[in-house]
Amino acid sequence: MEKDSMIGELVRLVGRENVLSSDMHFKLYEYDASLIRSKPDCIVLPTSTEQVSKVVKFAHDHKIPVIARGAGTNLSGGSVTVRGGIAIVLTKMNRILDMDIENLRVVVEPGVVTLDLKNVLARHGYLYQPDPASEKVTTIGGNFAENSGGPHCLKYGVTSNHVLGVELVLYDGQVVQVGGKALDNPGYDLMGVLGGSEGTLGIVTQAVLRIMPKAEAVKTMLCIYNSIEDGGNTVTAIIGEGIIPATLEMDSRSASSISAGRTMCGKSGVPRTGRSATRSGPAGRGRSAPSAGCVPTIWSTTAPCPEPDYRRRWPKWSKSAKNTTFRSRTYSTPEMEICIR
Ligand SMILES: Cc1cc2nc3c(=O)[nH]c(=O)nc-3n(C[C@H](O)[C@H](O)[C@H](O)COP(=O)(O)OP(=O)(O)OC[C@H]3O[C@@H](n4cnc5c(N)ncnc54)[C@H](O)[C@@H]3O)c2cc1C
Repeated sequence: MEKDSMIGELVRLVGRENVLSSDMHFKLYEYDASLIRSKPDCIVLPTSTEQVSKVVKFAHDHKIPVIARGAGTNLSGGSVTVRGGIAIVLTKMNRILDMDIENLRVVVEPGVVTLDLKNVLARHGYLYQPDPASEKVTTIGGNFAENSGGPHCLKYGVTSNHVLGVELVLYDGQVVQVGGKALDNPGYDLMGVLGGSEGTLGIVTQAVLRIMPKAEAVKTMLCIYNSIEDGGNTVTAIIGEGIIPATLEMDSRSASSISAGRTMCGKSGVPRTGRSATRSGPAGRGRSAPSAGCVPTIWSTTAPCPEPDYRRRWPKWSKSAKNTTFRSRTYSTPEMEICIR
């Protein structure tokens, strides 16, 4: 089909205001966060499931490739129109349709930005857990298609553990419902197939999400070790105690960790050169950091757990730590200093 007639037909289906077809727009939508580039022949920004369905049906009937797109931040080239065709950008479908707080469910359109949803829920004392680092801009649809996750994976799992149902537009424009508000739906586990399928099985136009109450108490700790092994042993000990922290992260050499280390440890806590700091990072697995500083390995952990419990256990976990920070107070043991702030 001629490009101009295709654009004309798409304008007829979704309205002029929802179709982009200038060279500048082709350039803007030719890439994501991967290294792949390829221009679409037309960009459509539908505002309803019905419009998505009409566009997909039209593309199917005329054998035109389609690609779904959220914020375009994926690293695998999934939202690049490698064979040209139509980029279906879901960012205008960004409404929260149902806040069923009582049943711990929300229903959203796929273009809702992950952090926006979290901010809305926070006002009610609730939380949507999946936390890709890109959550400030990414969409729920893109998160589900990539099965994204972040530091909270350890305790709460990835996106597919929090998406219980979807409305899906299939390759021919047909609209189907998969899953729902219940935790376990009868029949095949199609949600398991759809999560992480990068939009290859259909376009999500609505999603039912699981939410949870915010933790009543959160303690954040920062430990600084002389070696990767010591940090690793502490993690094993924490998990061995039967406690799964909400997050547990290791940062060995970034500028932020160095400055955090400096704050915690005073002047001595800075590696002498950038090179020594790098060697103590994950790439130099198993190697101890150069002595002198207490910067090299930093573990920070956030866990909903009563403070007295942590205070009782933490000295045991972090025997090898040079320095540990909690929240408001400071006390010392023979082996180390623990700050509670
Ligand atoms: C700085 C940065 C940090 C990042 N951090 C993380 C991280 O911590 N964890 C992590 O997992 N990822 C991370 N990513 C990768 C990326 O942000 C995630 O994969 C994110 O989920 C993509 O969402 P998006 O809205 O940008 O989707 P897009 O990139 O637009 O699309 C991603 C895929 O989903 C498909 N898709 C989009 N919307 C739909 C829909 N409605 N229905 C069906 N398919 C759809 C697209 O076709 C494509 O295949 C990061 C990326 C960057 C650039």
